Amino acid sequence: MVAEVAPLPSSLHFRYCMRMQQSSIYVRCPGCSDTTLVVHRGPTYVCAGCGFDYGALAKDEPAFERYLVERMREGPMGQLGAIALHQWVSGMGAAASVDAIRSMAARNGIELPDPAKGDPILRGALIFVVLLVVLIAGSIAYVVLTGGS
Ligand SMILES: [Zn+2]
Repeated sequence: MVAEVAPLPSSLHFRYCMRMQQSSIYVRCPGCSDTTLVVHRGPTYVCAGCGFDYGALAKDEPAFERYLVERMREGPMGQLGAIALHQWVSGMGAAASVDAIRSMAARNGIELPDPAKGDPILRGALIFVVLLVVLIAGSIAYVVLTGGS
């Protein structure tokens, strides 16, 4: 028998999922205890199965936090669901929402994958900037040392 361990998503996969999850997320619903699709209905978001109102849940902050923490403990998919759901219903904007959910996770001892860590594009860009600075500093030093004459 082979034990199956769900791998933690890589940063790229994580961001890919985040984009995918913008339009459809599945989370365990507090109303029907099923993993259901969350749908946008009027000014709020509801469970596609039983119509549970996530917008109303978000207004009860301690209950909303408890719910999100439970989802984040379920693993990567629950974390994506919690992040997307919080972004949708908190109404605080993407950056502030991510900050809020990160501190929420930290408060509860949950480690979220960091999309900025180990990003090859970002690292490449940083190396490029460093090289550019070295190059510019080098040419300035050259001009200064040779006296420009
Ligand atoms: Zn439901």
